[in-house]
Amino acid sequence: MKPIVAVVGRPNVGKSTLVNRIAQTSDAIVHESRGVTRDRSYYDADWCGHEFTLVDTGGIEPMKSEDIFSASIRDQALAAAEEADVILFVVDGSVGVTEEDESVARMIKRAKKPTFLLVNKLDNPDREQERLWEFYSLGVGDPIAVSALHGHGTGDLLDDVVALLPESYEDEKIDDGILSVAIIGRPNAGKSSLFNKILGSDRSIVSNVAGTTRDAIDTVIERGDKKYRLVDTAGIRKKSTVYENIEYYSMVRGLRAIDRADVALLVIDSSTGMTEQDQKVANLAIERGCAIVVLLNKWDLLPDDHAREQMMETVERRMGMAKWANYLRISALTGRSVEKIWALVDSAAQNRSARISTSKLNQLLTDMREFGHTIVDGRRRLRMHYVTQTGTNPPAFTFFVNHTDLINDSYRRYIENRMRATFDFKGTPIRLRFRKKD
Ligand code: GDP
Ligand code: GDP
Repeated sequence: MKPIVAVVGRPNVGKSTLVNRIAQTSDAIVHESRGVTRDRSYYDADWCGHEFTLVDTGGIEPMKSEDIFSASIRDQALAAAEEADVILFVVDGSVGVTEEDESVARMIKRAKKPTFLLVNKLDNPDREQERLWEFYSLGVGDPIAVSALHGHGTGDLLDDVVALLPESYEDEKIDDGILSVAIIGRPNAGKSSLFNKILGSDRSIVSNVAGTTRDAIDTVIERGDKKYRLVDTAGIRKKSTVYENIEYYSMVRGLRAIDRADVALLVIDSSTGMTEQDQKVANLAIERGCAIVVLLNKWDLLPDDHAREQMMETVERRMGMAKWANYLRISALTGRSVEKIWALVDSAAQNRSARISTSKLNQLLTDMREFGHTIVDGRRRLRMHYVTQTGTNPPAFTFFVNHTDLINDSYRRYIENRMRATFDFKGTPIRLRFRKKD
């Protein structure tokens, strides 16, 4: 688990510009799984060996369109402050202090978290120092001049941010051999209902286990001779705070749970269709190496075949990056198909831990060579010498090739498809790496 740095502020101050800048400055991890949406609201970043997750609260869509805009900004700020380890509060130096800035500042102060007040759009920092003074009135500490656009000040800022981060929470991952399952999804998708249905089943023996991380509570259920750990169920069990229904909160909660999970149950509200936010949550799980089972919940609410077909169409469109996932139509309310979840969890977890022998892998490579599909750029022609499995959970493979720069997205996709057609990776992401070898 990585510490979370939240970027907070009213719209248009330059939050996403800053997030992109930091992602470029620091060695933001280039994800190996494809299909990542362009519009990112979070990044895994690494500055001088300190890893953290940077979250742009502005990139998260407001829950309801009827939300009053400023109320939603304030809620996002509140939720961000609650969940973050460090807060980057961005204001616009070319405009000065606004009422909305003051409202965000009040929320942040309550949280008592390390906060940096970044006065953005000071593109000529030497000449604009006096602009900083008025921002002292916000009462959240010394204003720091930055220009997200030009990058002034971001390197120093990162030094100061990582100095305040807690150590990574990695050692908190428990290794007792019990399969860890996270229930994730947007607010209102039906996570709590599903959780209660699972706990209420005659076939589940339930025990609560002591919190392992900060405020996390896990629930272990026994089904026959198998055990499953439902991770970070505190927020699902009992909606304890007013933040539970905030998109940002569910995303950060999701991130924390995903980091400790082997398999993610992605709960979708079929009555509202699959949204961009669902897609983002799915990407979070995939990028972090979780197997996923997609639960199309509230299936009972779809009135007719037309509605059901439409739902499946949006699912196919939105989940193009994970055609390999298993889908289950359920109703957490009636219990429909809820018992079927476990077989899919088991098979996804099994495929996630698969080991493929080197000889089988290289047989595939030989077949691909004979098939003749390769990449040619001028006089250079891609040659793949050999491939080995370099990791499990999820399965990772390294291909040794003559020119790594020839590998493009479509070729990656082609190789992944061939791998999946040959071996059973249903339900799990796989990682492909390419290394140079002449
Ligand atoms: P957000 O709504 O807070 O995420 O703001 P954006 O990142 O979308 O930026 C809003 C506008 O401010 C965009 O037109 C940016 O190009 C501009 N902007 C952001 N940072 C800077 C900066 O450092 N200097 C200047 N001059 N413009 C900036
Ligand atoms: P969470 O925010 O993801 O934990 O969602 P909840 O479990 O609180 O559910 C949100 C609302 O959807 C509640 O009113 C539930 O009763 C309702 N709900 C959940 N699952 C289903 C379902 O399968 N069918 C129907 N009709 N309603 C459901």
